[in-house]
Amino acid sequence: MDKAYLDNNATAPLLPEAFEAMRPFFFEKFGNASSLYERGHQARTALEQARGRVARLLGASPQEIVFTGGGTEGDTMAILGLVSPGDHVITTAIEHHAVLHSCRRAETLGAQVTRLGIGGDGQVSPDDVRAALRPNTRLISVMMANNETGVVQPIEAIGRIAAEANVLFHTDAVQAAGKIPIDVARIQCHLLTLSGHKLHAPLGVGALYVRKGTLLRPLLHGGTQERGMRAGTENLPGIVGLGAAAELAVEWFVAGKAAKLAALRDRLERTAIEEIEHTRVNGGSAPRVPNTTSLGFEGVAGKSLVVSLDFKGVCASTGSACSAGSSAPPYVLMAMGLTAEQAYSSVRFSLGKQTTEEEIDYVLDCLPEVVAQLRAISPIWKKRSLRGGSVEGVGS
Ligand code: PLP
Repeated sequence: MDKAYLDNNATAPLLPEAFEAMRPFFFEKFGNASSLYERGHQARTALEQARGRVARLLGASPQEIVFTGGGTEGDTMAILGLVSPGDHVITTAIEHHAVLHSCRRAETLGAQVTRLGIGGDGQVSPDDVRAALRPNTRLISVMMANNETGVVQPIEAIGRIAAEANVLFHTDAVQAAGKIPIDVARIQCHLLTLSGHKLHAPLGVGALYVRKGTLLRPLLHGGTQERGMRAGTENLPGIVGLGAAAELAVEWFVAGKAAKLAALRDRLERTAIEEIEHTRVNGGSAPRVPNTTSLGFEGVAGKSLVVSLDFKGVCASTGSACSAGSSAPPYVLMAMGLTAEQAYSSVRFSLGKQTTEEEIDYVLDCLPEVVAQLRAISPIWKKRSLRGGSVEGVGS
């Protein structure tokens, strides 16, 4: 049994209220929202209510919400649904693979892609975005919050640049939705991706905001569901769960819970730094979503730390779950200018709406001891002690 689940950026547990909202739609209220009989009408009503709730979370109108199967689908739709051979796309080096690999696919189809670097604080510079514009730039795709560091990108400034240049703007808000308030009108984006399971709704459902008038080629071909933009019988229980989680997220903001979550995260971070020497926060100087911290523990292999914490019942990760099988250092941290050693020594702790003070206390009880044990057997740490200095610059 887990004693502390701090990997909510990988997937967050379903809120009980969202599950209760979904339950009838598996059983007595099941139905196809396109059917003409009463059961179908009820399904349609529930679907449209959920659409309204997701729209409210984003400051959008319900007609601008397209339900999808999750974040990867939304990102892929946004990029491959807009970009044609000969078009130019501006994105960043720290996007999720859903964006990076869709951009790579766009390149193989004849598009050009510029991938911008970021600063040491984890943010992309709006000036770099402006400088990268070309006459054939069709799309700018910059994420709202990074999945590994939680750093929030200057997307309002980028939205203004896109508007001035008359270029389409997509933002991957998978790690921001439900954590920070979002207003699509302020951001001036044309497309915005969110994913259910990152905001305590079920897996396998998501939404893409498509600004009215934005012409998107569908990825899936079939029925006319979602106004022809996403064919396939709608995942009614999932969509209802997403609507419920979106509504709960709005209430959560109104109740000031985001600040409480940030305080919990900050306590974890502060105490870890105080109690464990040579611990660093990656991206700590930039604005961040309230739930995420990326901590670097000098001389420790992040993956070993994750495994040791697992033995104590603590779930954390070395970064994106999609890169878990990779032996390469986390690319987001490398893009921030960290050495490979620093990047390898980092662990992401991501809190959720259900994280308690007791869980944080428990992690803080375990962490110093586990880090000390790993340092005791670490050749890098030993080398550092012999030199009496920092391990920075030591490759691994
Ligand atoms: N975008 C970001 C920033 C993510 O963190 C993730 C998942 O980790 C995705 C997209 C993909 O979302 P999904 O797992 O719903 O496909």
